[in-house]
Amino acid sequence: GPVTSPDSGALERAAEAALRPRRLAEFVGQQVVRDQLSLVLEAATARGRPPEHVLLSGPPGLGKTTLAMIIAGEIGAALRITSGPAIQHAGDLAAILSSLEEGEVLFIDEVHRLARPAEEMLYIAMEDFRVDVVVGKGVGATSIPLELPPFTVVGATTRAGLLPAPLRDRFGFVGHLDYYRASELHEVVTRSALRLDVPLDPDAAAEIAERSRGTPRIANRLLRRVRDWAQVRGSGRLDLAAARAALEVYEVDPRGLDRLDRGVLAALCTRFAGGPVGLSTLAVSVGEETETVETMVEPYLVREGFLTRTPRGRIATPMAWEHLGLAPPEPAAG
Ligand code: ADP
Repeated sequence: GPVTSPDSGALERAAEAALRPRRLAEFVGQQVVRDQLSLVLEAATARGRPPEHVLLSGPPGLGKTTLAMIIAGEIGAALRITSGPAIQHAGDLAAILSSLEEGEVLFIDEVHRLARPAEEMLYIAMEDFRVDVVVGKGVGATSIPLELPPFTVVGATTRAGLLPAPLRDRFGFVGHLDYYRASELHEVVTRSALRLDVPLDPDAAAEIAERSRGTPRIANRLLRRVRDWAQVRGSGRLDLAAARAALEVYEVDPRGLDRLDRGVLAALCTRFAGGPVGLSTLAVSVGEETETVETMVEPYLVREGFLTRTPRGRIATPMAWEHLGLAPPEPAAG
């Protein structure tokens, strides 16, 4: 995928794992969530009980999985990882829940994508620490309630609004992660360069930070691409020239927009005269899933002021036209 796609494959996940901060104190930015979470964890530890269930929401790549791992680490608990789409049947979830040990942390990524029966099973388990295990098949099937030891669910979602109220209400703490400031991403890549043991100049770090769409995952990924460039074409040193050259190779523009971001804006401006146009129509016109455009592309474009959402559809702002080097349409006379 494109270099700034927040989606990641297995090799990249391994590269990412190497760069994850392990303690809350090493987690850069998100001061509010960090302070709130550290209170929740300290209080629970003082009481000698597992912390309440935690829901983390925010765009991909902002540190939800990292925080789940940190939570488990801070309270000295084992971590189990699954995701909404990975749980096909309620039985899959029952198997996971019934094997949990006391105090374990169960991380459920994309918790908004659980199927309804699993979702119901989850909120009963979260509330009552109980799971109903179905034994047998057809008319002979019976359900046996199984008591669970106390544990903590950490749910992650890119779309908190999609979570049904009964499930959302079971989370005692909800933390919202927002895009990072360039100064924070500067710190992220500086730490990562230390871990990777590569020499990174401060102005190169600033350049990467500015062009990472407010997202640590993208910042770390661009850092690795700049390292590649520096090793193969440069002097090995990650300086400003290497950063700029690598970012150009990977088609990341000065505002941090990648091919897909610009493709969406270009379609909006040229095919739909700047909108308004529905999100799914826009997604089809760039050959992407609606969900990809909605979770990975649109939030940043909205936040940076390139695109606005209206009840009638998406609209390109004057800044979008300008960024693409296009003349905005003349306002209609009258
Ligand atoms: P999410 O689960 O929200 O998609 P991840 O937790 O997988 O995001 O984070 C993606 C990458 O970004 C990881 O390599 C992680 O180390 C890094 N990262 C995320 N947040 C931070 C942070 N606050 N400080 C340092 N690194 C971070």
